[in-house]
Amino acid sequence: MAATATMTQPITTFPPHPNPTIHHHNRHSHLLSALSSATSISHLKQLHAQILRSGLDRSTSLLLKLAVSSCALSRSSLPYALSVFAQIPRPQTRISNSFLRELSRSSEPESALFLFEKLLKEGLRVDRFSFPALLKASSRVQALMEGMEIHGLGVKLGFDSDPFVQTAVVRMYAACGRISDARMMFEKMSHRDVVTWSIMIDGYSQSGLFDDVLMLFEEMKRSDVEPDEMILSTVLSACGRAGNLNCGKAIHELITEKDMVLDSHLVSALITMYSSCGSMELAQDLYDQLSSKNVVVSTAMVSGYSKLGKVEAARLIFDQIDEKDLVCWSAMISGYAESEHPQEALDLFNEMQVLGIKPDHITMLSVVSACANLGALEKSKWIHKHVDKYGFSEALSISNALIDMYAKCGSLEGAREVFNRMHRRNVITWTSMISAFAMHGDAANSVKLFNQMKAENIQPNGVTFVSVLYACSHAGLVDEGQKIFASMVNEYNIVPKHEHYGCMVDLFGRANLLREALELVEQMPLAPNVVIWGSLMAACRVHKEVELGEFAAKRLLDLEPNHDGAHVLLSNIYAKERRWEDVREVRRLMKHKGVFKERGCSRLELNNEIHEFLMADRSHKQADEIYAKLDEVVGDLKLVGYAPNTCDVLVDVNEDEKEEMVLWHSEKLALCYGLMKEEEGSSIHIVKNLRICEDCHDFMKLVSKVYQRNIIVRDRTRFHHYKDGKCSCKDYW
Ligand code: ZN
Ligand code: ZN
Repeated sequence: MAATATMTQPITTFPPHPNPTIHHHNRHSHLLSALSSATSISHLKQLHAQILRSGLDRSTSLLLKLAVSSCALSRSSLPYALSVFAQIPRPQTRISNSFLRELSRSSEPESALFLFEKLLKEGLRVDRFSFPALLKASSRVQALMEGMEIHGLGVKLGFDSDPFVQTAVVRMYAACGRISDARMMFEKMSHRDVVTWSIMIDGYSQSGLFDDVLMLFEEMKRSDVEPDEMILSTVLSACGRAGNLNCGKAIHELITEKDMVLDSHLVSALITMYSSCGSMELAQDLYDQLSSKNVVVSTAMVSGYSKLGKVEAARLIFDQIDEKDLVCWSAMISGYAESEHPQEALDLFNEMQVLGIKPDHITMLSVVSACANLGALEKSKWIHKHVDKYGFSEALSISNALIDMYAKCGSLEGAREVFNRMHRRNVITWTSMISAFAMHGDAANSVKLFNQMKAENIQPNGVTFVSVLYACSHAGLVDEGQKIFASMVNEYNIVPKHEHYGCMVDLFGRANLLREALELVEQMPLAPNVVIWGSLMAACRVHKEVELGEFAAKRLLDLEPNHDGAHVLLSNIYAKERRWEDVREVRRLMKHKGVFKERGCSRLELNNEIHEFLMADRSHKQADEIYAKLDEVVGDLKLVGYAPNTCDVLVDVNEDEKEEMVLWHSEKLALCYGLMKEEEGSSIHIVKNLRICEDCHDFMKLVSKVYQRNIIVRDRTRFHHYKDGKCSCKDYW
């Protein structure tokens, strides 16, 4: 700003000049250069006043310069620029073109289109130099109709064979998503330079047509145009997106052959291509060969490993980066968040806080979703404070994620509070809240909110319907669910997917309407998948419908031979019918196919610390006390009729051992630790990675009654709120 001040002073006190002509001329050129270097709107207005005072207000060049300079300054100075331009009497085509070009580059390119329309009405003549600017403005605001009109005018006036106009037309169509029109113009061109090729290739890439990117690139290599770094980066990214490793390798070779400078931009593009093709070994080779590794390139490696879920390898590189920037932190944090390492994501976020690095929108979203995954309420509240502190509380996507986070941490109130406080809500906001109620078994509120959403004219989408149908099915609202399903198809023209049919099968199945469920499966236009057969099978299990259950389980195993639930069900059915030969056959198959149940793991948050328990875990430092507590609790429960239910245990061991295995389920260990440590009256929150088994479910219910404790368990699919011996899922899960 110092330059402005020194510039302003001498001009405001411009001394009178003895020779009027020279004086006039000097003042003109002085003003012209002052206008070019002005940096504020007030400075420009001062200069404008001097133009008027010196009687130079008929000077087209000064007025144009003033208009162009203020246009380039900021969005708010645009009306002023337009008013200055309006003072130019009958502007010539050349003058208008300069101003239009400036407008097309400004923060409001559409103003070029408005002005052009006005000038045309006033009788402006256009020449071939008018078109690139106008087409550029149309591209930038994706104004297809205006762009097509301008293109049409160009054709009428015979400018459409000018390569600059043609290139601008290609750019306009590509930017407006009309890629085949862009290609048509592109094919007509007699001369194509590297810019034109770049626009066309980028257009295909933006439209997600990665195979076309690669084909066009082949064509380009056959014509005599040399690709530049920009094009190569675009093509490399297309190779990655299309998963075309061979093509990516070929480009890498081409770069080496041509001895091109491997700047960090190009190296990152190569690394990203290799990682997108799933080949981190090749990325690592390239990385190892680099003589110097900067933060941009290393971050590409961190992202690459992270996206493939190889967080340990990502961390190794991350730790070696000396000057980590925000992009780099963000890549590592989202890597953890997305690969089921929520605790590490939060720890790293903490470290970043200590270093005083302000998170961006993406990092914040990752951290919120990590909290949701972790299901830890205290941590979530802590993160919410950061969201507010960094001013993200108005960001729609982050607020939506907060609703989901609170819901997954078992706090419907927290979710509700965020929802109520939002000024703006989109379909995702409503869907998140509807799904929150559904997850917690509050079908009434879920349906109520769904109706409210429709009343506020927000169009529900496919996901909204999954949530509300899920709520209906878990609460046994058969009629309501059928009505909603019908409205989805008839009113909203949403084609039902497997998830929707799955909810409907569930809806009928849970209500013991198994015939209706089977009819739906037989009539649905999609081939039933794992979800559908799984729902039917679960319903049969609950209602002890052996024949249909066996049928569904077998279809399920046709589609997914390693489905552990189906094996368990079949084996239980056979065991109950004493078909021992069949039981042995199922077990033999499971062993043969290597089916194993994922090891159960439960987490308990206590005083802001997370305690993790595996099935039959003895690694906790208070393990002895925990197992003693378990014995005590089992003793208490047996007095009120508890007997371990071992029907979900599929290992070939005797009944005593089965009982032990059930009792050592991770959620029971977590619960006992909670009973030891939590103050009386507080509720116990447990997050379990698998579906809760029947025995644990009964166990929790009894504990909630005998010890008068509220227990909240989040299992793989839903929440169970236990209170006074009952569960919110009404024993359907
Ligand atoms: Zn269990
Ligand atoms: Zn339950």
